[in-house]
Amino acid sequence: MNVKRKKISRCPSCGEKISIGERPKVGQYLLCSICDEKLEIVNLDPIVLDLLFDSNESEFNIDEYEYWEKYWNRV
Ligand SMILES: [Zn+2]
Repeated sequence: MNVKRKKISRCPSCGEKISIGERPKVGQYLLCSICDEKLEIVNLDPIVLDLLFDSNESEFNIDEYEYWEKYWNRV
């Protein structure tokens, strides 16, 4: 057998299969293409994904928006 093992897990939100990169890392962020949920890899063996939405998310987003605003202002 010479089958390349694909790293696949399931979205904890919608249950859809999500392919993870060949070298997934704990803490890596993913975006579910089906439900647009933000996910984080919390464990590699077995692969466990966790949703990224909670009270921290709003702060995270604000920081990110500010970052992008600065970025676009520079361009
Ligand atoms: Zn999903």
